[in-house]
Amino acid sequence: MNQSLAPVLCDKCKRPFSKFKSEVPDDLRERISEFCVPAGVYIAGKDPHCTKCGSLGIVDRTVVAEAVLTSQQLLNVYRHNDGGSSAARSYWAQEMGGLTECRHLIQKINEEAADPFMGEEAVCSLDEDSLIIV
Ligand SMILES: [Zn+2]
Repeated sequence: MNQSLAPVLCDKCKRPFSKFKSEVPDDLRERISEFCVPAGVYIAGKDPHCTKCGSLGIVDRTVVAEAVLTSQQLLNVYRHNDGGSSAARSYWAQEMGGLTECRHLIQKINEEAADPFMGEEAVCSLDEDSLIIV
């Protein structure tokens, strides 16, 4: 079990990534294009007069988590592979349909609920799964 809290965007002042992408750092913009559905991504607002969030751009935090249910099959992968926990994690994510914390964060970003920049700060880089799941 692993969990983090990602900031939730203010509905009243969040801004579409597609219109404000120039405000997003180049490397993050590339990860959003590669791992998210850019049309559904929003970034935090900066409205100093927002009556809902008071210019913070966020209103709450949401759980981003992964929970691995062990099984004999998964333990066998762990025990009989040179990769150990890394091999088991890849097997879990690819063969057992495991929802990694990274995928869960991307889901929340695509659902207009989390800001990608703040999400990466609070949870993990959007490319984390591509780096550790082989
Ligand atoms: Zn707001």
